[in-house]
Amino acid sequence: KEELNIIQGALELRTKTVEDVLTPLTDCFMLTSEAVLDFNTMSEIMQSGYTRIPVFENLRSNIVDILFVKDLDLAFVDPDDCTHLKTITQFYKHPMHCVFNDTKLDAMLEEFKKGKSHLAIVQRVNNEGEGDPFYEVMGIVTLEDVIEEIIKSEILDE
Ligand code: ADP
Repeated sequence: KEELNIIQGALELRTKTVEDVLTPLTDCFMLTSEAVLDFNTMSEIMQSGYTRIPVFENLRSNIVDILFVKDLDLAFVDPDDCTHLKTITQFYKHPMHCVFNDTKLDAMLEEFKKGKSHLAIVQRVNNEGEGDPFYEVMGIVTLEDVIEEIIKSEILDE
């Protein structure tokens, strides 16, 4: 029975899209690129518990980098030094991976399996309103969001 549910979850990867499982931008824990890694910021990062943190410039929808929290340890960041976040992100320069909202979960899983990054930024083409269409960031999707979709039916059944 459990196996059947997992198989069903796996089959649904073909029809569901990243838009169905993403974490909306409003719920994302992010940092501004102007942030200084002082005691407060470091505490917030640690308390958030996330391994990867999108970094935005001016507007939350303008994500310019991804901070990997482990980089802070590797770089021996000391809160007393008040290091600028930019110093870290410019050193590591993790590539940002963007996908469109209609990307199917099976395709997304394959992308994640290639191993570049297990977090992607989801964007859509916004052609509502008068102006020209533009790319709009909707949120983030991670490998865990896809895996959860596979085993969800099992979890809900309990
Ligand atoms: P982590 O390793 O940081 O726990 P996961 O990749 O395991 O993150 O994802 C767990 C859940 O948290 C997923 O639903 C994902 O969309 C969400 N998530 C990941 N990073 C963030 C973040 N910076 N802010 C808000 N939600 C996040």
